[in-house]
Amino acid sequence: MRSRAMYKCGNCGELYEDDSDASDCCRPAVYDVWECTTCHVVHKLQEEADACHPDQPAMPTPEELEAAGQQRLFQ
Ligand SMILES: [Zn+2]
Ligand SMILES: [Zn+2]
Repeated sequence: MRSRAMYKCGNCGELYEDDSDASDCCRPAVYDVWECTTCHVVHKLQEEADACHPDQPAMPTPEELEAAGQQRLFQ
């Protein structure tokens, strides 16, 4: 049995005989993602990635606790 190389779009899995067709397939679908450099989980939003493993330790300052409490009151 003969075999042949196929080229698979890494996004949608569509198969192509031509590698340039495959690389053109989902080109508009390419989007930026943000990786948490601590745990290497990829997030769609930069805020999510920043919040995943903040550089600073998790202990909030009294000021931050106060601010968070005030935000909760206004929501
Ligand atoms: Zn595709
Ligand atoms: Zn993380």
